[in-house]
Amino acid sequence: METIIEPFRIKSVEPIRMTTRAEREALIEEAGFNLFHVHAEDVLIDLLTDSGTSAMSAAQWGAMMQGDESYAGSPSYDRFEAAVRDLMPFEHIIPTHQGRAAERILMGIVAGPEATIPSNTHFDTTRANVEATGAEAVDLVIEEGLDPSAEHPFKGNLDAERLEALLSDPEVHVPLVMVTVTNNSGGGQPVSLANLRAVADRCRAHGVPLFLDACRFAENAYLIKQREDGYADRSVRAIVREMFSLADGMTMSAKKDALANIGGWLALNNDDWAQEARNQLILTEGFPTYGGLAGRDLEAIAVGLTEIVDEDYLAYRMASTRYLGQALTEVGVPIVRPVGGHAVYLDARRMLPHLPPLQYPGQSLAVSLYTTGGIRGCEIGSVMFGRQPDGSEQPAEMDLVRLAIPRRVYTQSHIDYVIEVIEDVYARRDALPGYEIIEEPDQLRHFTARFHPLG
Ligand SMILES: *Cc1c(COP(=O)(O)O)cnc(C)c1O
Repeated sequence: METIIEPFRIKSVEPIRMTTRAEREALIEEAGFNLFHVHAEDVLIDLLTDSGTSAMSAAQWGAMMQGDESYAGSPSYDRFEAAVRDLMPFEHIIPTHQGRAAERILMGIVAGPEATIPSNTHFDTTRANVEATGAEAVDLVIEEGLDPSAEHPFKGNLDAERLEALLSDPEVHVPLVMVTVTNNSGGGQPVSLANLRAVADRCRAHGVPLFLDACRFAENAYLIKQREDGYADRSVRAIVREMFSLADGMTMSAKKDALANIGGWLALNNDDWAQEARNQLILTEGFPTYGGLAGRDLEAIAVGLTEIVDEDYLAYRMASTRYLGQALTEVGVPIVRPVGGHAVYLDARRMLPHLPPLQYPGQSLAVSLYTTGGIRGCEIGSVMFGRQPDGSEQPAEMDLVRLAIPRRVYTQSHIDYVIEVIEDVYARRDALPGYEIIEEPDQLRHFTARFHPLG
């Protein structure tokens, strides 16, 4: 059959509260035109993030009842550790309450004012945690990765030549190289195994450890299976293990490809760093066998890790994201091509050429999707990345609106509605206003800034 169905039945539902356009116009103004300030009950289809929004399975809920809440030595930790190690065979596996806690602990150990940390593209929390130590965060994604319309199967790849130049520069201290799989801020684009191998070779040659920011490791592995020569017949599990065999450690948000609502971990082979990480963990997260999580959360992650590498699930996951991307492409809406794993990224800069980047075309488009149809997406552009550490403003490389698809949550008719709303906004795109920021914090401003429409 051609139709790829959702490989699950729904046994527990949550109502969606219907709102009118007039209500939403008042609500977004109240929220300072920032979708992070809108109440979730006031959203019809919430595509703000795929983080922590997955629907858990009956097996996960069942396992949660077995959660052991002992402070030390909980068997839930043992099951969590075994499930992680089964896919990611690192020496030390340190749970954290979410991915950024793992990043903060890792960067606190390895970074600092002298350090430069390269990545394909640092995710916003990763960049903020690097910069918070005084280090410099450098993005080295391949050129195609910065061109939303360039068709390339692995636009998340890190430019190995530029990495080599950085690692060879005696003026630059690189304590660690990160690679984000899939490259979230760069459009959810995958990284090939060939590229991971090339990066790992260069890291080895310079004695620099390679860490994966592995939030969407399973989606990356499935895209390798679909797109990289020689992997069509390999199992996703085998591809996952090959990816991690090239790395010396990882940070992870269990809110993504562990199908859990909270959690994360830091895993690594370096004994000294692990010791220091556990000391830090006790200070800010908790004892090393729970790391800021309840035993039941560790159970949900352990089961989620077995479900995420299920190839029927991954086939459906990729098909549903592609479905949205294809429908938009057919009506001429500019999106980041090809469609990656977890999201469709609307190219707001190309869709709204009448708005300069520092009038935030991504913000304008995101606000309009909300007022028109109650859809909540996320600006990834000059609002998120435009503010420099010295307080000045620079346009980001791209101005995108990310429509992230929560795992196992929405059906095809929800997505058909999303397509209809976007078509409606697209027809009126010339009339969308620019925005100015009227209030913002020093860091991660997109979460709390307030805006005002121009003109
Ligand atoms: C979500 C995410 C993080 C941070 O994880 P949290 O659990 O949200 O703290 C880091 N890197 C990438 C690529 C992510 O998608």
